[in-house]
Amino acid sequence: MKLYDSLKREFTEINVPKFCIYTCGPTVYDYIHIGNARPLILTDIIVRYLEYKEIKYKYLLNITDIDDKIIQKAAEQNITEEDHAQIYADAFFNDLKNLNIKSPTLITPISSKISEILIFIDDLIKKGFAYEKKGNVYFDIGQWNGEYGALSNQNINNLNMGERIEIDENKKNPQDFILWKKTKTGKKWLSKWGFGRPGWHTECALLIDDFFKDTIDIHVGGIDLKFPHHENERIQYMAKNSKELSNIWLHNGHLSIDDIKMSKSLKNTILVKDYLEENGVNSLRYIFLNSNYTQPLNINQDLINQSIDWVTKVEALLRTVNWGTAIGEVVLINETPIDEDFNSYKFITNFESLLDDDLNTPMVISLIDEMCKNINIQIKNKRVDLTYKKLLKIIKVLGFNFDIKKLDKKDIEKIKEWKLLIYQKKFDKADKLRETLKQGNII
Ligand SMILES: [Zn+2]
Repeated sequence: MKLYDSLKREFTEINVPKFCIYTCGPTVYDYIHIGNARPLILTDIIVRYLEYKEIKYKYLLNITDIDDKIIQKAAEQNITEEDHAQIYADAFFNDLKNLNIKSPTLITPISSKISEILIFIDDLIKKGFAYEKKGNVYFDIGQWNGEYGALSNQNINNLNMGERIEIDENKKNPQDFILWKKTKTGKKWLSKWGFGRPGWHTECALLIDDFFKDTIDIHVGGIDLKFPHHENERIQYMAKNSKELSNIWLHNGHLSIDDIKMSKSLKNTILVKDYLEENGVNSLRYIFLNSNYTQPLNINQDLINQSIDWVTKVEALLRTVNWGTAIGEVVLINETPIDEDFNSYKFITNFESLLDDDLNTPMVISLIDEMCKNINIQIKNKRVDLTYKKLLKIIKVLGFNFDIKKLDKKDIEKIKEWKLLIYQKKFDKADKLRETLKQGNII
C-alpha cells in the first residue's frame, strides 16, 4: 500500500506483516462534530481494508479526559470532571457505533495512564530534554533545531509565536511546551514536582510508547493538529527513544461548511449525532470518500443532496436483488463471465489497486457506479453474476451500512401479491401495496 507521508512529503510504500496505527482521539468535553469524524473514518477504511486483505493490525485510539475545557464545563454545570467526561465519552462511543466504525484494538482514556506519564516525563528530564520550573515541567526545544518544525515544514526560529504557543516567562525558549502543569484547580495528581496534571501533547507520545513499544507504521490526525500537537508528540518520542514516532504521518484536510472553515469559534460546526440523524451514516461516508482525504472538503446542501441520491440509488439496487432473488425473479449465478463491455472480471483487481494507491476512494466510488450500472442491466435479464457479491465486498470495506432486510415468508407472499396485481393490470392497488412494501424496507 502506498500512502502520503506528511513528514517526508512524498508517497511512501508500506508493506509490513502487522500494522501499528494510532489516531488522535477527542477531548470529551462536548459532542464531536463531523470534522472530528473525518480522521476516524479515514482510519476505519485502512483498518477495514487490512482486515479484507487478512493483514493483522493493532489500532490505538485515545480519549483526552483531562483538560482545562472539561474542568471549566464541569464547574459551570456543578458536576464532577469525571462525570462530565464520562457523559461525553459515552456520547463518543455512541457516535463511533452510529458511524459504523470498527472497534479499535484499544481505546485508552489518559486518566488511566498518569503513573506511566510521570515516569515518561521524569525520563525526559533525566535525559536532559526537559526541565522543571516552579512546579511546571517543560520540554526544552533548544536542542532540537533542525528536527522541531520538520513535520509542519517550518523553521524553528520563524514559528508563529503567540498565536498557538503560550507565552510563559518560566520557559527557557518561547517554543518550549508544557509536559506537566502545576495546578490548584480541577483534578490533580501528586508528582515529585508537586500537584499538577499532564499536558495534552505528552498524552499521545506516552500512549504510543506505552502500547506499541516501537516506531508505529501510521499516525492519523487532522491537519489542524499538525502544529503544535503532532510536532510536539514527535519530538518527545524522539527525545525519549532516539527514533521516529511513526513511519507515516497521515493528515486529513479540514472541512468547510458553505465555504467557511468549520470551527467551534465560528459556531458553524455540525455535530455527528445531528448529521447522522438527518442524513444517515452512508451520506457522510460518501461525502468523505468521494474526495481525496488530504484535500480540504467543502460541505453544502448540494453535496448532501448528491450523497443522498447516490445512497438511495445503491440501496435500491441492493434491495431489488434481495427481493428479486427471494421470489425467484432474479437468479444469482456464481460465475463472472468475461464480459468485454464491462470488464467485470477486473472489478476486484481495480478496487485493490485503487485503495493501494494512497486510498483513491473517489475512484472506488466511480467503480461502484460502474458495477451498479452493470448489475442493473443484468437484473433486466433476470440473471445476476458475481459482480453483485464483489459489490457487497467493496461496500463492506468502505464501511457503508445499508439496511437490507432478510425477508421472511410473509414478506415474500406480499411481494408476490404485488407482482400479481401488476400482472392483472390493477395498477392502483399495486401502487398502494408497493408503497407499503417500501415503507417496510421490503423492496
Ligand atoms: Zn495526538
